[in-house]
Amino acid sequence: MDLDDTPEQAAFRTQVLAFIDQHGAKAMAEETEGEALLSREVRAKTKGWRDALVASGWIAPAWPKEYGGAGLSATEQFILNEELAEHGLSNVGGFGVMMFGPTLMIHGTPEQKQEHLGKIQRGEVVWCQGWSEPSAGSDLASLQTRAIREGDEYVLNGQKIWTSGAQHADWMYMLARTDPDAPKHRGISLLMFPMDSPGVSVRPLINLANNHGFNEVFFEDVRVPVSNRVGEENRGWYVGMTLTDYERSGIGSAVGTQRRLRGLRQAALDAPPEQTVLGRTGGTMWRLAFTDRWIEAEIARLFSYLNITIQARNMVPNYEASMSKLFTSELNQRIASTTLRLYGLYGSLWDTGRPEAQSGKAAAGYLGAVSSTIAGGTSEVQRNIIATRGLGLPRG
Ligand SMILES: Cc1cc2nc3c(=O)[nH]c(=O)nc-3n(C[C@H](O)[C@H](O)[C@H](O)COP(=O)(O)OP(=O)(O)OC[C@H]3O[C@@H](n4cnc5c(N)ncnc54)[C@H](O)[C@@H]3O)c2cc1C
Repeated sequence: MDLDDTPEQAAFRTQVLAFIDQHGAKAMAEETEGEALLSREVRAKTKGWRDALVASGWIAPAWPKEYGGAGLSATEQFILNEELAEHGLSNVGGFGVMMFGPTLMIHGTPEQKQEHLGKIQRGEVVWCQGWSEPSAGSDLASLQTRAIREGDEYVLNGQKIWTSGAQHADWMYMLARTDPDAPKHRGISLLMFPMDSPGVSVRPLINLANNHGFNEVFFEDVRVPVSNRVGEENRGWYVGMTLTDYERSGIGSAVGTQRRLRGLRQAALDAPPEQTVLGRTGGTMWRLAFTDRWIEAEIARLFSYLNITIQARNMVPNYEASMSKLFTSELNQRIASTTLRLYGLYGSLWDTGRPEAQSGKAAAGYLGAVSSTIAGGTSEVQRNIIATRGLGLPRG
């Protein structure tokens, strides 16, 4: 495999770098670091950056031009994401642009596309994803939220959990059971509705890092027009799986990992010597651990290249996406651990605004990283996929 840019790819990279330069994006990255990208305040603060992305079509790099996207090839998308991450920037598209929009293009009616795609692309409407329930996570097809049809409407009752950004979202797309007597994968439909529909309530869940990222969402006799169903009735599982493919193909990306490690190296050089383990017992061990992380980040990058190469050949990464997700999410946790250990006992300090605040970030990062091997499919689920689809082992 030739890992260097072709002349066309190098020209595209130059174009991306000029764009980043022109829109003063670095300042924006610093302003929003660590904040929920979907919150109204951050959306207002990042409007200039978003407008620039929308104007170039790069807010939705994978979308066809007819829907206002950039129609970029898989490799160009990767270059764009790589350079944004390298500069500490994110494409502020969210669930709508990355997953729901592309799914709507495939399964939506002309009216649904007309109503939603433009608003998603322009960032006027923020979406959340109602998949998981208290007894349906890895085994998602066990979901119990019921949608009973009454004329032109479904009446929705039940509960979702771990719904990221539901407190900021304007709309939800979700899976509900429309035929309880059918085999579990065949009685599910995909519905969408505004979050301010009567009967929808959102209850915050605070994670162990003291962040409010996800929520419980309850439905009590919520009325959803049948015209808000995406795809056929009882075929929602297959519509949902199109969306999950988009989720998986993005989730294992290692872009940004090397930037984090460069930041950690700089932090090690800058921190007052008495606040790190470098000059003490443990310093050598830390240097060795950091070197391991550096090598592992390079491996994670190669996994990303593998997936991009598959996509560039118009194929969908399968167990390869799981390999990348597994390795990268576990690496994220190891980097968080290595970061914490740099500061020795200072590492366990919470950010209290004291001069040692840098180590306070390490503690928050360590706790925040725990979820990376759960979100988007747990490590065990990824290993099952690699074992059965990749290695051909029998199911347990
Ligand atoms: C940060 C974060 C954000 C999230 N955002 C959303 C969101 O926006 N919308 C949404 O719908 N969901 C969201 N989720 C939920 C996420 O999809 C689920 O947590 C995940 O799918 C696991 O499901 P579960 O929590 O029910 O765990 P379970 O499925 O109950 O798993 C419990 C344990 O059993 C193991 N296990 C389960 N099945 C198997 C098996 N077959 N073989 C071996 N081991 C197994 C798992 O690996 C895990 O260790 C989010 C989760 C996190 C952490």
